[in-house]
Formats: sequence, structure tokens, C-alpha cells
Amino acid sequence: MTDTQSSQSTPLADELDPERILTEQFHRARTHLSEVPPGLVDYLRLPRRTINVSVPVQMDDGHIRHFEGYRVLHSRMFGPGKGGIRYHPAVSPGEVKVLAALMSWKCALLHLPFGGAKGGVACDPKELSEGELRRITRRFISELGDNIGPYTDVPAPDVYTDAQTMAWIYDTYDQLHPGENNLPVVTGKPRELGGSAGRTEATSRGCVYTAERLIALGGVPGLDSLQGARVVIQGFGNVGRIAARLFQEMGAHIRAVSDSGGAILAENGDTLDLDRVEAHKADHGSVVGVPGSRTITNDDLLALECDILVPAALGGQIHSGNATRVAARLVVEGANRPITPEADDVLAARGIVVLPDILANAGGVTVSYYEWVQNIEHHSWSLEEVNNRLRTRMFDATDRVVARWRGFPQDCAEQGLCGDLRTAALVEALDRLAKATLQRGIWP
Ligand code: NAP
Repeated sequence: MTDTQSSQSTPLADELDPERILTEQFHRARTHLSEVPPGLVDYLRLPRRTINVSVPVQMDDGHIRHFEGYRVLHSRMFGPGKGGIRYHPAVSPGEVKVLAALMSWKCALLHLPFGGAKGGVACDPKELSEGELRRITRRFISELGDNIGPYTDVPAPDVYTDAQTMAWIYDTYDQLHPGENNLPVVTGKPRELGGSAGRTEATSRGCVYTAERLIALGGVPGLDSLQGARVVIQGFGNVGRIAARLFQEMGAHIRAVSDSGGAILAENGDTLDLDRVEAHKADHGSVVGVPGSRTITNDDLLALECDILVPAALGGQIHSGNATRVAARLVVEGANRPITPEADDVLAARGIVVLPDILANAGGVTVSYYEWVQNIEHHSWSLEEVNNRLRTRMFDATDRVVARWRGFPQDCAEQGLCGDLRTAALVEALDRLAKATLQRGIWP
């Protein structure tokens, strides 16, 4: 495939349905868990609680609108629910449910003392003023009431929410619970309000650490270092923009990046000037049009020849309609669930390795855990301490997933088993959740 050759690429009907994808991925893992009682495995897939709220808001021009908001608690097996809140027009109860399950598995995989949760409000933040966003946030959090809390369910940033959103969440909760240490109710806060050093960069840093470790373990045929690796990144928000910087610091070349406005490719075929890209995005709202770059489509970006492709935008981006065009050696899932099971099969058959979301992007929740601990202890760790702890934990999780992967039978396909890294990560997480559930005992 050439760099910018275009093609029609559409997924199969229902292929992008988040609940179907989760069920399929779960099924692939459970076939490796024959010792776990089947009823227990089924239970581990289902959310513990789903809350739907209606959020009325007075808009700047005086009229009243309402927005649908959701918070799903999937599990509290290892501690409070933990998971981001996203503001996006496509937020739906089904997607939030699936993202909450991914958080349970991510926390179990990283050995964090949290269960899984997720939330969202269906709205388009690009059409809302700061005042409207603040009022939506405050009303949403007050509607959730005591269903969130430092020891019950702890939100964090996700798509189109940020440290400012987390500050409003903290303030709202604190107004409702005066006289208590409420800082641990939410993570990803500004530094001045108890946010941790390194939290903003943590998800991207985790992507780099896991890729570095997998490569060092010989897990990516044809790639032995990040030094000189050609990297392509979809999404230029918190995860994608910072991942570009960090991969570059490791000696990689950033060939192309994209945002919702389109994609750009370094004109000389080498590496983008990230200072210029960031300045252009700040001035014009998109990466498209950066001097020294060529504009391509987001679809074409996914088909660029590279060593590492990092989808860091939304779910369902790589599917059966475009997986055959992916020309990377390694795909690092910065985003949650960017690859469908059908596309996983295509990539595996073509020898393309996928570092799955529950491992690759777990750096964010890991440093959220560090923030939570610092808030409880009224203490603050240095950036160096946070990054060292993060690196150790991401390496350890990568090692365990790779060991699980290498322990799969050689003839997985003949036995009807899936033998990829995603399945290995999920088996590792579900095995731990199943053991803990049995040790605690089913109530009553
Ligand atoms: P974000 O800061 O809101 O950035 C999202 C980026 O995706 C933006 O640059 C946006 O473009 C771009 N985008 C949206 N639609 C697109 C499309 N159709 N094609 C290409 N780019 C598109 O969100 P984020 O925090 O980086 O999260 C990105 C992903 O990482 C999500 O899947 C999220 O769940 C996952 N994740 C995030 C964290 C975290 O700590 N933030 C942790 C774990 C996983 P514009 O800039 O033009 O709007």
C-alpha cells in the first residue's frame, strides 16, 4: 500500500456495536479459563450498577436544554470503581457500560486497588461555552450524589474532559460534603488542587513504556528499538499529542498525526516538527495546514507504512473494512477499543502485533491511583518518583502478559483458541478477578 492511496473502507453491519465487541473479546478469553466456573465468568462480564440521569441546564442565551448522563459501576472487587468521564455526542449507555468493563480489567491487570467504572454526558463540548460546561458538570455530579465518592467510585478525565472538568467535579462534591478530605473523589485534577505530577502525560507515557518493554522482550518481529522507529498517531488530544512528544524523545520519527479535522504527513517523509504542529493546532483548532506537511485523510493515515501506529482518538477505528490496509509492525492502543475483533484477526494473520488497550493505555489510571494515594496521605511525590513507579508497574504488567501469551498452546488456532496479546491480557485480568471473587465468596 502506498502512503496516500485512498480506498472505500466500511465495517460490517453491527461490527462497531460496543457490546458485541466486548462479548466477543470476552468469549475469546474465557476459552482459556476452563478452570473458572462458567457462571462466575458470566458474572464478571456484567456491570454491577448503571445510573442514567437527566441533566437540565440553562444555556447562556437563557433557554433550557437537557442532556443525558450516565455512570456505570462495573466492579468493586479490588476497591472503589475507577474510570473517566467523557463528553461527546456519541456517548451512549451501551458504550459507557463497555468502557466500564474495560476499566475493571485494566485495574485488575495492573494490580491496582480499584474496580472499574465509566461515565459520560452526551453533548458536543465544541458547541458549548465554558459556563455551560461548568453547569452541566456541576448538575451531573450533584445528580450522581453519593454514588461517587473517595471510597466508592472515583472519576477521571476522558475524551473532551480535562483537569478543569475534574476541578469542577471536586468543587461540587466538596460543597456537598463539607469538612471532609474530598480530594480523592476525583483524579486528573490541576496540580494546585491535589493533582499528581505526571498525571497529564501518564497515559501516553504508559504507551511508550509498554511498547519499549514489548520490543525489548522480542515481541515485535522486525523491530528492536524505539530509536529510529517510524510512528504514526491518530488523535492529537491529551493522549496522542503527548505520545508524539514522548516517542520522539525516545528517538522515534513522528511521520504523521491527525485530529477530527483530518491528518497530516511530514512533507519530506521524515518527521513532523511538533512545536509547529502544536502551535498551528492552538491557533487554528486543527493540525491540518501545518507548513511543511501534506494533508491526507484519517483513513489514509491508518494505512501509512510505519513501525508503530498509535490510534489515540475513538473506538472502532480499525475494522474489517480497513484492517488489510494497516501497514505497521506494531499497533499501540492509546485509545480504548480502537480495533474490532474482526480487525484483530486480520492483523494477527498479517503478523501485525497489537498492544491492547487494557495494557497500553493503563498508565493514566495507574498515575490516577498514585494521585488518590497522595491525596489520602496529604502528600506529594516528585515527577521522578511518579515516573519511576509507573515504569516499574507498566514493565511488570507487560512481562506478565507476554509470559501468558508465550504460555498459550502453539496450536491455538487448531484448538479454536485466540492467541493474541489482547486475549493474554484479558485472561490475566479475568483470572485474577475470578480468584478474588471466589476468595471473598459470593454474598450471602
Ligand atoms: P481528547 O484529549 O479529547 O482527544 C481526542 C482526540 O481525538 C482529539 O485530538 C480529537 O480531535 C481526536 N479525534 C476525535 N475524533 C476523531 C476522528 N474521527 N479521527 C481522528 N481524530 C479524532 O481525548 P484523550 O483523553 O486523548 O483520549 C483519547 C482516547 O484515549 C480515548 O479513547 C480515551 O478513552 C483513551 N484514554 C484516555 C486516557 C486519558 O488519561 N485521557 C486514559 C486511557 C485511555 P480534535 O482535537 O479535532 O477534537
